[in-house]
Amino acid sequence: MRRAGRFHAWGWRWRPLNRAWMRRGPNVCASCGRRTCAQCKAVFHVTTRPPRTEGVCDHCGGPLVQREDDRPEAVRVRMATYEKNTAPLAEYYRQRGLLLPIPAEGSPEEIFSRTVAALYARDGVTAPVP
Ligand SMILES: [Zn+2]
Repeated sequence: MRRAGRFHAWGWRWRPLNRAWMRRGPNVCASCGRRTCAQCKAVFHVTTRPPRTEGVCDHCGGPLVQREDDRPEAVRVRMATYEKNTAPLAEYYRQRGLLLPIPAEGSPEEIFSRTVAALYARDGVTAPVP
């Protein structure tokens, strides 16, 4: 685990984030909703950033397509590879009591808030009021 040792050296901030990205959740296929303009390459998302007209680019009127690597099967293969490669890293930190699991469901903002709250809770301090 020489590689994990290097991650460890980056400092505490990186440790919970590693886990957050590994967590499987209902949004495991968030990129499956992504649609890319065939002409100008603008990126949309069927639920989080839909175009004004379904299947049509807001910017240039070009057709929106699903890229090959955003298809569910391709995403599943990518996730499986990622899980296989990062599982030993999670175990490395779990054994040292350094793993802080963060559920990665919801929007990026929700996940970020959850991460910050978990860090404050772990360190036994109250989060500052923004
Ligand atoms: Zn376009």
